[in-house]
Amino acid sequence: MLRSTKIVATLGPASSDAATLERLLAAGVNMVRLNFSHGTAQDHVDRAALVRDLARKSNRALAVLVDLQGPKIRVGKFEKNKVDLKNGAKFILDSNCELGNQERVGLDYKELPNDVEAGAILLLDDGRLVLEVTDVLGSEIHTVVKVGGVLSNNKGINRQGGGLTAPALTAKDMEDIKTAAKLHADYVAVSFPKSGADMYMARTLLRAAGSKALLIAKIERTEAVANLEEILDASDGIMVARGDLAVEVGDAAVPALQKKMIKLARRKNKLTITATQMMESMITSPVPTRAEVSDVANAVLDGTDAVMLSAESASGKFPVETVEAMVRVCVEAEKSVDRKVSDEVLGQGDFNRIDQSISMAALFAATHLNVRAIAALTQSGSSALWMSRFVSGVPIYALTPEFDTYSRLALFRDVFPVMLANENSDRENLLVRAEVEMLRQGIVQNGDIVIFTFGDVVGMGGGTNSMKIVRMGDRKAR
Ligand code: PGA
Ligand code: MN
Repeated sequence: MLRSTKIVATLGPASSDAATLERLLAAGVNMVRLNFSHGTAQDHVDRAALVRDLARKSNRALAVLVDLQGPKIRVGKFEKNKVDLKNGAKFILDSNCELGNQERVGLDYKELPNDVEAGAILLLDDGRLVLEVTDVLGSEIHTVVKVGGVLSNNKGINRQGGGLTAPALTAKDMEDIKTAAKLHADYVAVSFPKSGADMYMARTLLRAAGSKALLIAKIERTEAVANLEEILDASDGIMVARGDLAVEVGDAAVPALQKKMIKLARRKNKLTITATQMMESMITSPVPTRAEVSDVANAVLDGTDAVMLSAESASGKFPVETVEAMVRVCVEAEKSVDRKVSDEVLGQGDFNRIDQSISMAALFAATHLNVRAIAALTQSGSSALWMSRFVSGVPIYALTPEFDTYSRLALFRDVFPVMLANENSDRENLLVRAEVEMLRQGIVQNGDIVIFTFGDVVGMGGGTNSMKIVRMGDRKAR
């Protein structure tokens, strides 16, 4: 059973041993996320090596995502690890406080007092606690507790409506970028970017460290929603990071934003990952709630490339069962996708690239002729990206000699990567070998119609300029 939508699983203590990783891959994980908010650099390097080795042994394309922590603003620690804040009580956030108590707590981001003023609303621990600022006195932010509860060590702080000036890349992120280069990350996610400039900065640092990773912008700040276009232009894809985003813009605004963001990203030829709390109850339960099933299915219908698991796979009790449930929901939701994408393709206006034009022509033909698949012979994966920006349900086999391309393509919706060596073949020879390989793998059968796209010059990235429609097995007759 082919599944178009891809699954991203965060690795953690519940998913670091070889046996569990093997089961996760077999269940259908397409990309693993290494969350640099937790664990040491060495933990991540080791996990990446282990999971890549297992993927290679089982002939599965697997992408590795390094997710940088970014400037998550947190309270410090408490003398007794936590306090219970009552509604209406006074509480001080003090950047000079060492160890917190019932009256005050420290801050890891010392600039916070400069970023808030009386009337500002601060949301702690993903919005579970709400504080209203009454006054700012030097290093102290005086607040009154609007919604109380237990506040424990190092919980996050968001400001409602955004407006925090913390730069997107911290000193830790800059170190972690070097680790990402070292472990050869396929994707790197930048947390809390506010602008295109933040993404350019990250790209510059990554390239300087020797990494060719594709860049994902996590949309989780109010400013990022406002600057979505320029962030998309500066990135290879976005993550709808619903955890922090919901706190900053209000949870009720998130579903519509998700739809808008996915649509715009696809139109701009960019990738999308829908993240956070998708199967939250499966951290402790072997079955999802009806609401979670609906949420995953709706993300599929919105056209996301991938759906993501966080604590469910990193520290939950049922990591494998969660992936299995997600697979089941994706496959079912995909059945209702309309294969005819021509209106959308035709409606995009003029093309400005040759590979884009061939890709769109192939997609148009594929959705009007009863083809089994598209086979894109690709170096960089760019033709497969163009074709997969329209949800068509037509499987796009991306045949590439490049292992990096093969791994990255694991994230693209509707795209199924296949390794195919160039072996200094000429073009005709390469097409024949592609056909033989697809028949051998059982991807297609004799008699199936397949649309091939390729370039005149074998081995040139972005060089796709031709398409050929072939009936499988007719080769001898030709
Ligand atoms: P996080 O990002 O898990 O790193 O916080 C995702 C989100 O905020 O939704
Ligand atoms: Mn976040």
